Amino acid sequence: MKIPFDNSYALLPDRFFARQSPTPVAEPELFALNRALAFDLGLTLDNWGDTDAAQLFSGNQIPEGADPLAAAYAGHQFGNWVPQLGDGRAVLLGEIVTPLGRRDVQLKGAGRTPWSRGGDGRAWLGPVLREYVVSEAMHALGIPTTRALAAVTTGETVWREAPLPGAILTRVAASHIRVGTFQYFSARQDVEALRTLTDHVIARHYPDADGPEGLLSAVVAAQADLIARWMSVGFIHGVMNTDNMALSGETIDYGPCAFMDGYHPARKFSSIDRFGRYAFDQQPDIAVWNLSQLASTLLPLFPDPEAAIPRLTEVLNGFAPLFRDRWTALFRAKLGLTRDEEEDATLASDLLKIMSRGEDDFTLVFRGLGDGTAAEHITDRPAFDAWSSRWQARRSRDETSAAEQVALMDRTNPAVIPRNHRIEEMIEAAVAGDRQPFDRLTAALATPFTENAELARAPRSDEIVQATFCGT
Ligand code: AMP
Ligand code: MG
Ligand code: MG
Repeated sequence: MKIPFDNSYALLPDRFFARQSPTPVAEPELFALNRALAFDLGLTLDNWGDTDAAQLFSGNQIPEGADPLAAAYAGHQFGNWVPQLGDGRAVLLGEIVTPLGRRDVQLKGAGRTPWSRGGDGRAWLGPVLREYVVSEAMHALGIPTTRALAAVTTGETVWREAPLPGAILTRVAASHIRVGTFQYFSARQDVEALRTLTDHVIARHYPDADGPEGLLSAVVAAQADLIARWMSVGFIHGVMNTDNMALSGETIDYGPCAFMDGYHPARKFSSIDRFGRYAFDQQPDIAVWNLSQLASTLLPLFPDPEAAIPRLTEVLNGFAPLFRDRWTALFRAKLGLTRDEEEDATLASDLLKIMSRGEDDFTLVFRGLGDGTAAEHITDRPAFDAWSSRWQARRSRDETSAAEQVALMDRTNPAVIPRNHRIEEMIEAAVAGDRQPFDRLTAALATPFTENAELARAPRSDEIVQATFCGT
């Protein structure tokens, strides 16, 4: 078993991280291995037995070429400055250069690190499987995200409010560098480190970017695209702290995230987000808030920081139009339309307004546009019928045929999303030793545009999940 590591973060100065091996676990067992991802990464796992995989993905066996480390970072959590966060329970095994590009291989739940604070460094099976399922679903929906390569159980008990089965997730990401990584050095006035980090991120993610301003501009564009994509599927991240915003533009940290069932713009799920800071419709504004934090960390890199302020402000102001364009393009396709018309954004947001009155199911309404069943999921039918006439008139102005429009809708409006009640059901079953719901869910979510009567349906009133808990 050989993994072709090629580590670059480990070559950065010592103060970027702490060398840290995973803490071995009692009895690792493979729960899930993402063979499709392994294949895409060019890893030949064919001749690996489950035991080998469990040894590797639990951190019990450190593969040759790994250079395990826990990264330092800081961040704003719910707007409050925390000068010292860092990987408290994640260990970066190393990086591999794959057909997809350079990728981090990280074990999450691998034991305590110098940044663990009071935590145990561990994770339990529930959040590990939630991240596995939701991150892979996001990928299948075409949304940039960290990936899940493996999940193992540790044979150890993790104590939260109750004794729970321990688990470790193997997360794969273009990198784990966060806005909070820049903030960590900025807070220490370590300009040298900021310069090194900026160069590293440019070389790694945005080779065409010209200096810190170019970097900011590229990250703004990546985030505008990412958040628009979230909004197009009803995804609520739930904990958009600056340490949970990746420079790569990947969705990262699936804690209290959720896909909405019933649509309401101010929907939130996270039980710790008491004031709705990270509610659905706040996400673009919060992204700009986070990017402003990034911008201010970059200022010392300019020969005249004072003069750079208006320039970086202008870059930040670019988020709103970029986001609006991406949002409109995504929703235009969701309505089956290809031609760019002035009123398209209004047409889409008018439908959302109608849906919000009855908190109609986001996924079923959009999916229903293609097969003519949308109205069945709408509460305010007269308003929808009036909207539908406008939409039909708009469709007839498009150059495409009705059949082409339906095909476009069916490949942009997913039938299956990871609904909260299915995730909870899957976790409950897995903890009880029944892996079938996990297997069913991951299989269906791999092809989210394919009908699946049971997994596509909205929760019955007794199945609705009102809140997600930051169950770590
Ligand atoms: P999050 O809200 O998931 O981004 O986590 C915030 C910080 O808490 C991160 O630095 C994590 O590494 C750390 N953390 C979360 N859970 C644990 C744990 N069980 N043990 C140690 N550190 C943790
Ligand atoms: Mg985090
Ligand atoms: Mg988390």
